[in-house]
Amino acid sequence: MQFTKSIEAFKKAQEIIPGGVNSPVRAFKSVKMNPVFISKAKGAYITDIDGNVYLDFVASWGPLIFGHAHDTILAAINEAAQKGTSFGAPNEYETEMAELIVDMVPSIQKVRMVNSGTEATMSAIRLARGYTKRECIVKFAGNYHGHGDSFLIKAGSGAITLGLPDSPGVTSSTAMDTLTAEYNNLNSVKALFQERGKEIAAIIVEPVAGNMGVVVPSKDFLQGLRDICTQYGALLIFDEVITGFRLAKGGAQEYFNVMPDLTTLGKIIGGGLPVGAYGGSKEIMDMLAPIGPVYQAGTLSGNPLAMAAGIAMLKLIRNTTDFHSELERKAAKLEKGILNNLKEAGVNGLINRVGSMMTLFFTNEKQITSYDEAMKSDADRYAKYFKLSLENGIYLAPSQYECLFISYAHTDKEIEDVIAKNLEALKNL
Ligand SMILES: *Cc1c(COP(=O)(O)O)cnc(C)c1O
Repeated sequence: MQFTKSIEAFKKAQEIIPGGVNSPVRAFKSVKMNPVFISKAKGAYITDIDGNVYLDFVASWGPLIFGHAHDTILAAINEAAQKGTSFGAPNEYETEMAELIVDMVPSIQKVRMVNSGTEATMSAIRLARGYTKRECIVKFAGNYHGHGDSFLIKAGSGAITLGLPDSPGVTSSTAMDTLTAEYNNLNSVKALFQERGKEIAAIIVEPVAGNMGVVVPSKDFLQGLRDICTQYGALLIFDEVITGFRLAKGGAQEYFNVMPDLTTLGKIIGGGLPVGAYGGSKEIMDMLAPIGPVYQAGTLSGNPLAMAAGIAMLKLIRNTTDFHSELERKAAKLEKGILNNLKEAGVNGLINRVGSMMTLFFTNEKQITSYDEAMKSDADRYAKYFKLSLENGIYLAPSQYECLFISYAHTDKEIEDVIAKNLEALKNL
């Protein structure tokens, strides 16, 4: 495989864009490679500017659950664009989008649209603070909630791989209001609440962790968080930016049957355009301006193109009856194949998976249930595996601490092909 044009493009980009990228993990730094520049994508495949074609398991980091450039979504964007790209005024797309979200996500009665997952989580904790009149939040080591100041503390993949657990520029007073607990460890949460329960506005959690690689919540963990929040009058925020619409129509809250007070959404909800959202009960959401005192706004929020894409995406998900069962079946098939390969190749590793999100960890651990356990993985080995896969035409996340995403566009034949190529890569590690 030739990467000449990508190497040239990256050189040029680095001169005028910090690190050559607009989001750090794209730079392939943790896999010690030159990033490939993408020229186009369709269905399960992406093509780089050298003409190399890859079967894609990144899916733009999650949004493209029906594959790239889906005809229905493209048509919706096209139709909306003909009528104008932005109004800065109410439009009926926004209401239709809100109706779909309220209909699909069990705990949401009212929803506010924003432009990214980061905006959703930042706004959700402001609302939680305004509602409870408390200042601290609890987050989990290894969970990522976007790049808002309050969350850049033990913050998962981008920060892990680049060694920036606490980013310069985040003030110490902001950091002091973020308390950190251990994922899957209710005692670590209880200890924080016993000491500072009256100051804690909310717990924010990835209901399935995706940003330290996939880490599955234990059976009692999410319900335990629900109970602690109820007991202390704090709000439970599920950051469903990845899990929303992916694990089930109603996200992780439906999948695990645990209801948060607030939910943040992103990625899939935009159908590939920049969108986020946060929602919850009427009582809490009505604290927002213009009817309540908590301020939050956005010039391009509810943008008609983004809403049209999101509406088309959510309708596709809602109306495809075998959608989540098919994703589950294909993902289980891939998991089984890779597990067999690990044995056959004699490589130590394990897979964490929920539905269509999974991570192959290169590790000697028996299980990975926390940030500390995830950190014992062999990132160098992953880097080698990544390179072999890329050269085999398989585009994986360029970090050990990310998810592999199965989309509806992946066929059985492609999964079988990937399993065969995976064996080859594992044997060559
Ligand atoms: C990606 C992600 C975010 C941030 O979303 P952006 O759109 O990148 O700002 C927040 N939370 C989780 C769980 C994510 O995976």
